[in-house]
Amino acid sequence: MEQSSSTPMASIEIKHVTVVGCGTMGNGIAQVFATCGYSVNLVDLFAPALEKAMNTIARNLDRVVAKGGLDQVARDAALARIHCSTSLAEATQKSDLVVEAATENRQIKLELFRQLDQLCPSHCILATNTSSISITDIAGATHRPAQIIGMHFMNPVPIMKLIEVIKGYNTTPSVTATIVALSHQLGKIPVEANDYPGFVANRILMPMINEAVHALYEGVAGVAEIDTVMKLGMAHPMGPLQLADFIGLDVCLAILRVLHDGFGQAKYAPCPLLVKMVSSGNLGLKTGKGFYSYQAGSKDLVVAQEFC
Ligand code: NAD
Repeated sequence: MEQSSSTPMASIEIKHVTVVGCGTMGNGIAQVFATCGYSVNLVDLFAPALEKAMNTIARNLDRVVAKGGLDQVARDAALARIHCSTSLAEATQKSDLVVEAATENRQIKLELFRQLDQLCPSHCILATNTSSISITDIAGATHRPAQIIGMHFMNPVPIMKLIEVIKGYNTTPSVTATIVALSHQLGKIPVEANDYPGFVANRILMPMINEAVHALYEGVAGVAEIDTVMKLGMAHPMGPLQLADFIGLDVCLAILRVLHDGFGQAKYAPCPLLVKMVSSGNLGLKTGKGFYSYQAGSKDLVVAQEFC
């Protein structure tokens, strides 16, 4: 049944959460929900990706135990609350909330939400972790636009406090209130935003990253120099090129394209160097090479190659 934003909806109790996509963000989101006592179904298209995600979560939880943030029993219980599946139908049967964290691609998300709308119980809230794609557009693929919302976690999810909560045109206030309250329960700080390309976080962050890539492309300075200026000069904890590697260069490019299409302004056009690096398959930390090279077990920052 379609509900308009003015139709009040009873607030629902969230117990069963499904996380769709187990990449950089999905595994962190699953970890945070499970650590806070929620039963989590983690879904991906690929079984090896799920295995990798569970190994990452186990390693991250071990680190929390080593630092005294969790005891071994709580760690094991959190891990046991996460169930992996490659079947969306199986994973969503009992869901009260779905958090979609699949690839940043409009067509993939629209198709996923079409399926989720058919599969999930009618009370279920469907949230997306999209960095930039319109919540209202995604909601239009469903028959429950009042229950569609952006729940934009930050990377790395277990560490970062912010959740950007994005209201679509038809998102009902009780759904927003449920997600805001839930964010607090997860130990996070929610900030509400309206539905415009890139919302707040990436509307501001991505032009800065793109400008850093342009500075490199034009030979203004090298990778390490650009990052050092922003770290030491602007007190950023990480330089923009390292941050781009950390986010994933494919994700950065996808967000810039949404900004460019959405606002129609040349200032958002992705730098040709970024486009070329994504085409080459060098996507940053997740592929082992972007602006820097990454060796397993090493924290050294090594510039990947000459760029200019
Ligand atoms: P990723 O490429 O690391 O992982 C995406 C995962 O989704 C992959 O494992 C892929 O197999 C899976 N997937 C793709 N289509 C699917 C489908 N139909 N069903 C199930 N699984 C599917 O991407 P990511 O960096 O984790 O980004 C995920 C989402 O989170 C994107 O919307 C992105 O914009 C957003 N986000 C990313 C960051 C970041 O720093 N990387 C930060 C905040 C938000």
